[in-house]
Amino acid sequence: MRGKLVVGNWKMNGGLRPNDALLAELRAGWAEPADRQLAICVPHPYLWQAQAALSGSAIAWGAQDVSEYASGAHTGEVSAAMVAEFGCRYALVGHSERRARGEDDAVVALKAAAALGAGLTPVVCVGETLAEREAGSTDAVVLRQFDAVAARLGDRVSAIVIAYEPVWAIGTGRTASPSQAQTVHRLLRERLGRGAGAGVPLLYGGSVKSDNAKALFACPDIDGALVGGASLKADEFLAIARA
Ligand code: PEP
Repeated sequence: MRGKLVVGNWKMNGGLRPNDALLAELRAGWAEPADRQLAICVPHPYLWQAQAALSGSAIAWGAQDVSEYASGAHTGEVSAAMVAEFGCRYALVGHSERRARGEDDAVVALKAAAALGAGLTPVVCVGETLAEREAGSTDAVVLRQFDAVAARLGDRVSAIVIAYEPVWAIGTGRTASPSQAQTVHRLLRERLGRGAGAGVPLLYGGSVKSDNAKALFACPDIDGALVGGASLKADEFLAIARA
């Protein structure tokens, strides 16, 4: 059975003092059964803080990006092996906010492979823009993004998590309806097939809140959520994870 997973994405938010409070509230508020996992992806400078605050708890942590390179002359980049040293379980790759800055499918696939190679679980983000949806190309875009990763990983695709995040729903307050989300999740589930990919969790992301999470999670092919803005408030994030 596929596990349930809710992952927070703090984006470029936080600070040492507010992080301490948020991490302590999360730790105190989460002791759910092992079939439900909670994780947060924090900015790189705060990985040590997440590790210190959450070690020994039921909450995992991860990075928001990793380099496609292992080491060398790549100023400003952070490798997957480096973030793994801070106890990360997850790394987001291919978030739309990074794709919008020029990351293409080939780079995202390399990043997913780099994360796996360092023992991390890549959370591979896919999703269409509003213009692509209106042009009727949602399926083609999402499958193209997924196929690039699957082609590079081969059987190792079974070790990833996929987050379907329609770009028009991220940070806009405009959530995909459960049926819009389920339609794309079903497409991805079919593409993953019954073999190695059958156990890959499929998360939905895009303005998930405690008041819309239940309806999304009731869909048969939605296994959890990638949560941006709402992961910055412990009560709201925990309420989503419990939904
Ligand atoms: C995200 O950043 O991945 C995201 C889904 O953001 P939000 O929940 O704020 O829409």
